[in-house]
Amino acid sequence: MLCDYHMHTRLTDGLEEPRDYARAAVAAGVAEIACTDHMPLVRPFANGYMRPEDLPIYVGWVEAARQEFPQLSILLGLELDYLPGIEPELRELQQRFDWDFFLGGIHFIGEWNHDAPEAIARWRTCDVDVEWAAYFKLLTDAARTSLYDSMAHPDLPKKFGFRPKRDPTPLFEPFLKACADAGTAIEISTAGLHKPCKEIYPSLEFLKLARAHGVAITFGSDAHQPRHVGRDFDKAVALARAAGYSSFCRFSKRKKTSTPF
Ligand SMILES: [Zn+2]
Ligand SMILES: [Zn+2]
Repeated sequence: MLCDYHMHTRLTDGLEEPRDYARAAVAAGVAEIACTDHMPLVRPFANGYMRPEDLPIYVGWVEAARQEFPQLSILLGLELDYLPGIEPELRELQQRFDWDFFLGGIHFIGEWNHDAPEAIARWRTCDVDVEWAAYFKLLTDAARTSLYDSMAHPDLPKKFGFRPKRDPTPLFEPFLKACADAGTAIEISTAGLHKPCKEIYPSLEFLKLARAHGVAITFGSDAHQPRHVGRDFDKAVALARAAGYSSFCRFSKRKKTSTPF
């Protein structure tokens, strides 16, 4: 049973609408999807986020997709950023609609969008070890809030191929402990296969450590167009198995259940 818990619409940096992703999911044999478009994030440095006034449109689109494709389970979700002090804003947002699932994504280190294509120039000249450490501090702080159900693309700083000189394992450990304590899952994302790093997020070593800490997993394609729904999930499942996993999590109204694979 395939469940894709990460996709974006034309309200942000994706194409099309939830109904188009639903149609693609049915065609690809995906049993359940979570629409996880980028939250409204009103900051001078944030691009590609939903406008606050578009949020009811987004929720209406998901409801319409459910009506049109009753054979598919469609979760109402968002990809929520973490910035220090953003917690009250997230809590307010979480109370506004009947959400199923929140994905956590760290796209900013300070005001720097480290995974935008324009970030490559800075990656070339920065201290990669320092930026990885800053990223994982934010990811760990985010997991500790318990405001997220699963943390997206956990080792995202590898995206453009800039890897730390020091062994990053000591950065992974506190994050995974925070996930275990908060009951937060991590995402296995096939999007990395199509980036310069050419590797699933997270790596096998990371995932083995997650398994050892008892951290649960979700699967996501991070689809920005409908044809990417469920993309490379055979590889994601193989990686999960190689790390020792035999089940993944599903959510409904933010309640977690386990499904074997
Ligand atoms: Zn993301
Ligand atoms: Zn995303």
